[in-house]
Amino acid sequence: MILVMKKDPVVIIGGGFAGVYTAKELLKRNLPVLLISKTNHFTFTPLLHEVATGSLISHDVIFEYESFFKEKHFQFARGLVENIDLKKRTVSVEAEKIAYSQLVLALGATTNHWNIKGTDKAFTLKNVEDAVKLKKAILETAQNIDQHASVTVVGAGPTGLELVFDIQLMLESLKKRNENLHFTVRLIDSRKAVCSMGSKSVDGYIARALKKAGIEVVCGAYAQEITSDKIITTEGEFASDVTVLCAGVRPNTDVFKKILKLDDRGHIIVNSHLQVLDDPSVFAIGDAISIDGEPVPKLAQIAVREAPVVAANIARIHYGSRELTRTYTPKVLGTLFSLGFGDGVGQIQGRVVKGVLAWYLWRTVYLFKTPGLGNKLRVAFSWTLGLFQGRNLTEL
Ligand SMILES: Cc1cc2nc3c(=O)[nH]c(=O)nc-3n(C[C@H](O)[C@H](O)[C@H](O)COP(=O)(O)OP(=O)(O)OC[C@H]3O[C@@H](n4cnc5c(N)ncnc54)[C@H](O)[C@@H]3O)c2cc1C
Repeated sequence: MILVMKKDPVVIIGGGFAGVYTAKELLKRNLPVLLISKTNHFTFTPLLHEVATGSLISHDVIFEYESFFKEKHFQFARGLVENIDLKKRTVSVEAEKIAYSQLVLALGATTNHWNIKGTDKAFTLKNVEDAVKLKKAILETAQNIDQHASVTVVGAGPTGLELVFDIQLMLESLKKRNENLHFTVRLIDSRKAVCSMGSKSVDGYIARALKKAGIEVVCGAYAQEITSDKIITTEGEFASDVTVLCAGVRPNTDVFKKILKLDDRGHIIVNSHLQVLDDPSVFAIGDAISIDGEPVPKLAQIAVREAPVVAANIARIHYGSRELTRTYTPKVLGTLFSLGFGDGVGQIQGRVVKGVLAWYLWRTVYLFKTPGLGNKLRVAFSWTLGLFQGRNLTEL
């Protein structure tokens, strides 16, 4: 990998929401950008549960960076960054050292295993490979000769909730083909009440929807151990052929512990300009940061709104200004969850929306947010096909 740019580029580590939207904003300002990421594609995470349950296929939710950024002053390098030399202003990707003018850390977060034993037996939902593995495991257990399937989702946050409703519907589709199939779908959460989305009306709606769907809910239970056929919790043991861990995430900063100033939960500490405190040429953004000591909500909508702030500040430095003008204060504008096909709930600017309207809004919003026309068309096509053909229940 030989990288030649006339000027040292702005290097972005991480090609998730934070990294990609920052690249887009920097390119608009005519700055040379080099994006480094572990994979060659961006993943549209809000629709991953639909890949795991057959409403979409894997290629609907990923796109290759180089097909999206056509600008001449954009470069992509695939690899895992394991070291940064802040003094020499270089990052190390395998044997290569890459010089930067400014650096943006957009490392994201990884599944938190909370010291639960046997997490190697659990499934997660952080990327498209996870979604495909999970779908295959559910199909294997449901189409197994013994015709009984038990699936447990640990964690009733937005990801766990959206997933559990779709798993229930996927198993119902399989039961239509084979009435001898018996299945249990269970949602386990450590909180006393299963939902706390910040509104009694939203929480009540979700609790009723879980009951109506026939999803077993176990509250106040901390997962302790996962095996290939059960889950052991503080509230007892439950049969579980497939256990999915959706119990939260932690910053993806382990390899940079000695290099960067992190808070006690591993977030990179930045100021309100999103600038790393020890080094004015380094910025950090997305799930991996805390601003002035406060972790920001781990949401794509936050990462996307941080991007123009970082880009504007970097552009000011690049074009010779000493003073940074743009600051960011995290604010969640709204939430929308799908609760399976045709049902949803959420809050938009304080107003609660429920039922089919919320679901329709959810689909519309995420269709529009899917980056690139090609991907939008793919998602719209898969959803339309699904209306006539049902779920895609192949193993991939
Ligand atoms: C299943 C799921 C559903 C979600 N649904 C929603 C939703 O509906 N609405 C919403 O607002 N948010 C949602 N989120 C949260 C949202 O995905 C995150 O907030 C968002 O992805 C954060 O962006 P990021 O760029 O900080 O991190 P990520 O998107 O996680 O990107 C991090 C990137 O960094 C790369 N990377 C990490 N370390 C290195 C390294 N050392 N070297 C090279 N590359 C590295 C990774 O490969 C990845 O490309 C969901 C998340 C998940 C997992």
